[in-house]
Amino acid sequence: MTTTADPTPALPPALADDAADSPAEPTPLRTSRPPALSPSRASDFLQCPLLFRFRAVDRLPEPPSSAAARGTLVHAVLERLYDAPLGERTREAALDLLPGEWDRLVEAEPRYAQLFQPDGDAADQPLGSWLDGAGRLLGTYFTLEDPNRLEPEARELYVESKLDDGPLLRGIVDRLDVAPDGAIRVVDYKSGRSPRPGFEGKALFQMRFYGLVVWRERGVLPKMLQLVYLGDGQVLRAEPSERELEVTETKIRGVWDAITTAARRGEFVPRPSKLCGWCAHQERCPEFGGTTPPIPEGALRARLGLDV
Ligand code: SF4
Repeated sequence: MTTTADPTPALPPALADDAADSPAEPTPLRTSRPPALSPSRASDFLQCPLLFRFRAVDRLPEPPSSAAARGTLVHAVLERLYDAPLGERTREAALDLLPGEWDRLVEAEPRYAQLFQPDGDAADQPLGSWLDGAGRLLGTYFTLEDPNRLEPEARELYVESKLDDGPLLRGIVDRLDVAPDGAIRVVDYKSGRSPRPGFEGKALFQMRFYGLVVWRERGVLPKMLQLVYLGDGQVLRAEPSERELEVTETKIRGVWDAITTAARRGEFVPRPSKLCGWCAHQERCPEFGGTTPPIPEGALRARLGLDV
């Protein structure tokens, strides 16, 4: 692992990088996508079953957060950066992409414009200094990798695989590198800080989840799983074994069994932790004196594919 200093504040990884797949508005029950389990939602269930329900079943909207928006913006710039030819993927080029990518993001997700309104999460900052924060994260990226020495096979790659007698697994891999000898590296960017030693389990679970899906899709065991933490300039690498990914599959099946059991009982039990401070649903959580609304009619079938 390598380290560089960066002033960007610490962010819970789930909020910094995964909130983009939380809905901005209540989503209709009819959807063209079949029910599936992503690493983010599996991690939600492991953190708190009630949080999982609010996000994956009820699909309750969550207000945009400054941290999540910045993470999404940095991901967009890093994806776009690789459109440039080798030799032109410079820090300056990445910084030049920031304003345009921000405009594209706001156009696609108008809720991000709320961030800078008086009650928004970034109301105390002018847009320019907020973008400077994203620029610092991009600066950290260039201390960790040289994009002029990489030619990714894919960026923002949608992957999915159906487990026999289990859920459809899906996710989006930030970058997939394939070496001339066919060796696969799965890369994920994180705009937050790396976990402390001994607390890498959640991050590794997410990467092994992706590794498992890529392995099942392509029939090739990924050589490397790599997490690039832009918040503190660390890189976490793991070379997965077949055994580790089989264990991950067993764990995912266990999570899915627990989800279906909770759904059949209609009981998604809150599990309070220090991460509750970042939860957007305290007013509906009994742990905070709130009242949990009933599960919307048909949501378990539409969102989880369960006839309960
Ligand atoms: S406030 Fe905490 S216990 Fe309640 S739903 Fe959110 S994460 Fe779960």
